[in-house]
Amino acid sequence: MGVKDNNTNKNHRKSFFYYYGIVLLVVFLLNTFLVPQMMERSVREVSYDQFLHFVEAKQVGMVYQDGESLMFTLKEDVEKEWGVTAYKTGLWPDANLTDRLLDAGVVFSQEIVTQPSLLSTIFVQWIMPIVLFVVIGQLLGRTLQKKMGSMGNPAMTFGKSNAKIYAETETGKTFSDVAGQEEAKEALKEIVDFLHNPQKYAEIGATLPKGALLVGPPGTGKTLLAKAVAGEAHVPFFSISGSEFVEMFVGMGAAKVRDLFKQANEKAPCIVFIDEIDTIGKKRDGGGIGGNDEREQTLNQLLTEMDGFDGKKGVVILAATNRPESLDQALLRPGRFDRRIPVELPDLKGREAILRVHGKDVKLESSVDFNSVARAASGASGAELANIVNEAALRAVRMGRSVVNQSDLEESVEVVVAGYQRKDASVSKNEKRIVAYHEIGHALVAACQSNSAPVHKITIIPRTSGALGYTMQVEAGERFLMSKEEALNKIATFTGGRAAEEFMFQSITTGAANDIEQATKIARAMVTRYGMSDQFGMVALETVNNQYLGGDTSMVCAPETAKAVDDEVIAIVKAQYEKAMGILKAHAAKLNELSEYLLERETITGEEFMEILQRE
Ligand code: ADP
Ligand code: MG
Ligand code: ZN
Repeated sequence: MGVKDNNTNKNHRKSFFYYYGIVLLVVFLLNTFLVPQMMERSVREVSYDQFLHFVEAKQVGMVYQDGESLMFTLKEDVEKEWGVTAYKTGLWPDANLTDRLLDAGVVFSQEIVTQPSLLSTIFVQWIMPIVLFVVIGQLLGRTLQKKMGSMGNPAMTFGKSNAKIYAETETGKTFSDVAGQEEAKEALKEIVDFLHNPQKYAEIGATLPKGALLVGPPGTGKTLLAKAVAGEAHVPFFSISGSEFVEMFVGMGAAKVRDLFKQANEKAPCIVFIDEIDTIGKKRDGGGIGGNDEREQTLNQLLTEMDGFDGKKGVVILAATNRPESLDQALLRPGRFDRRIPVELPDLKGREAILRVHGKDVKLESSVDFNSVARAASGASGAELANIVNEAALRAVRMGRSVVNQSDLEESVEVVVAGYQRKDASVSKNEKRIVAYHEIGHALVAACQSNSAPVHKITIIPRTSGALGYTMQVEAGERFLMSKEEALNKIATFTGGRAAEEFMFQSITTGAANDIEQATKIARAMVTRYGMSDQFGMVALETVNNQYLGGDTSMVCAPETAKAVDDEVIAIVKAQYEKAMGILKAHAAKLNELSEYLLERETITGEEFMEILQRE
């Protein structure tokens, strides 16, 4: 997204320069061509006959001999052609001319200024460029607006919302495009039903919530769900992203909100969808000099509008966010977004269903087993699963096949999880050996503990993500709870890589950085959030700041307690490291055998691994 935004910005700036370049060019052309032409035009050539006629009529003001020709002007009060200031005629051998001119009261001059009239000069050199600038400025403004709003009418829409009116055909999405997320769909179907049969609800005296808030991690299909609602509801659908309210000019955001709701009221029954509502709906904080007045104004306007309209009229407001905890409390109180629809990461069944939905778009070999792909892609969001299917199709093309097979899907899970293979990476023989022992260390520790997910695959092919190898564990089914024992086993498995390095080579490498981070994270959560330490028991020592985005935490305890927590975390990880080391020492022969085997093959499956491990 960020990249895209940058691009449009650049485009705007480009077109800005582009337009002003044109204006400058036009002004330049005017000055180089039109102005001299006007100078020329300002001298009008007439016949000698006509000249005499002017003289007779006593209309000539001044004369001046310019070589072979005669220049003259007409008197002020004589009507002249527009733009003409002087006349010119050929000189005839006329002896009486001087007398005649004197008779007619003509002034003999040294020179006649043949400049265009002041008025026309002003017009060409000043007024025209200004008019041009204004016209082009307006055009530019409109295209900018159009680009910013990506739609919206090009008329004077400054401050008007660029909410797009979606007809059903335009989103082209229905609930069948959304796999899994059954609860969310259920809740939204009720809203659609309300818009179709309001009398059913009115009869019994029920009012539907004015607004529903879709919350969940990125890529879980919140925007997709809203589009599906639009496709199913057969009512006008206004969709706007929160960031579109954040405007260049103060007060524009609020104006947009006002306009959006005005449009919606006119079109009722209809749906208004505000995507990424956190951009405007953030908590208002009293402090801060200046604060963010613009955003607060916009939010206030939104709150006012939501209170203002009649719930029975059939305007339903949907909004989506992945940081609900940052939303202003006022938005969440009853009468506004009082219904909250969680859109969580898909479970195993959901992942399989999403893979199937996206699998429809590509040619698949009939033997493809989505269930095993879904199991390998544990923790993936809907967007990532869609990406996995697409990567698989790309891989099939790369391999010169016309259908996608199982290996394409499995490899693309790894691509999405760990990045592409880097076949060209020159990892020295010695380093490869270390990586092999490191990975087998993980796998061996995992396999020798009960309650660990089975090893699915081990590889030492480097990835573009920077990983030199990895061990993939896949749970047989879906897990929702983690016992203390499992948590400890996980930590032990993470430390197994480093333990193997130390055990075999008596030296350690930087390769374990990620393992260390993961192990620490689990250990810390055990102590501060899961109540799994004897010392602290069931006390929350940390709160999660944003449950859907990374989930970083902040300590909520005294500094002394924080130190004790650190000590506890260190002790947990240390103990698990010792346990892992013990397992490896007890299976030293297998560690060697498996590592050499992996070094030779580069990638081995879980079955191969287990077969060697269980061999006598
Ligand atoms: P969000 O708005 O929650 O961040 P999106 O709705 O933009 O996520 O989802 C991005 C893409 O991921 C969708 O366009 C769709 O291709 C895919 N996707 C996500 N969730 C699902 C789902 N439940 N079923 C099918 N496709 C999904
Ligand atoms: Mg979205
Ligand atoms: Zn590791």
